[in-house]
Amino acid sequence: MEFVLYEAKDKIAAITLNRPEARNAQNKQLLDELDACWTKAAEDEDVRVIVLKANGKHFSSGHDISVRPGEKPPVDLKTQGLAGIFHYERVRFLGYSRKWRDVPKPSIAAVQGACIAGGLMLCWPCDLIVAAEDAFFSDPVVRLGIGGVEYHGHTWEFGARKAKELLFTASRFDAREAHRLGMVNRVVPTEKLEEETFALARQIAEMHPFALAQAKRMVNSTLDIMGQYTALQACFDVHTTGHGNALSISGMPMLMDLEGMKKAQK
Ligand code: ZN
Repeated sequence: MEFVLYEAKDKIAAITLNRPEARNAQNKQLLDELDACWTKAAEDEDVRVIVLKANGKHFSSGHDISVRPGEKPPVDLKTQGLAGIFHYERVRFLGYSRKWRDVPKPSIAAVQGACIAGGLMLCWPCDLIVAAEDAFFSDPVVRLGIGGVEYHGHTWEFGARKAKELLFTASRFDAREAHRLGMVNRVVPTEKLEEETFALARQIAEMHPFALAQAKRMVNSTLDIMGQYTALQACFDVHTTGHGNALSISGMPMLMDLEGMKKAQK
């Protein structure tokens, strides 16, 4: 593994994004490694709680759309077109996030610094979120001509009114606001993020594992009966029409507002 670290001890699996020089931007390899770690933690009977954290100043700046030298782009737009984008994102973006959300063990995300767009798709599937005081969040994808990231957690996390404001304005909100909105469980001093997250993980790890899995299933099933599962699918399809529109106008999957994105990611 190059971009993700894995360690399991004392009933807790720690999955660590380890691409700090790129602000933990998510390319295909990072996502596949991350998914392999989630699978390993899910299958390990000694693991009771999963902690997802990130090395460096920032949790994740989102999807990495650049291609490294000598690397093939994950989708060949000329031959695969919108179908290629749909397939790639259905598996790696919506699919992975859904899968992690349903792992039958409690998971906690520890978030510091930037958590932008695709970054939200890593922490939202976790059951609990602990945020450092310096954490900030945003989904500025409207600037790219698309209604929001592939995993539409927004309305579930913030309610309809705030979800619309955050999407329409592409603005960021800090850890305190995220806590007020109910998106994060705790805000802690940045230097204590790891310590506080693991203390919480240890507390949960002492509970009965099957009861924990049942508690998680009760909450997730309730959300799914309220329509979360089908809404996520539907919103993913709407998201794909954004790529289709951009492709038809510019030949690129996004309408680039690089200045706006740079501002949003600062
Ligand atoms: Zn997309």
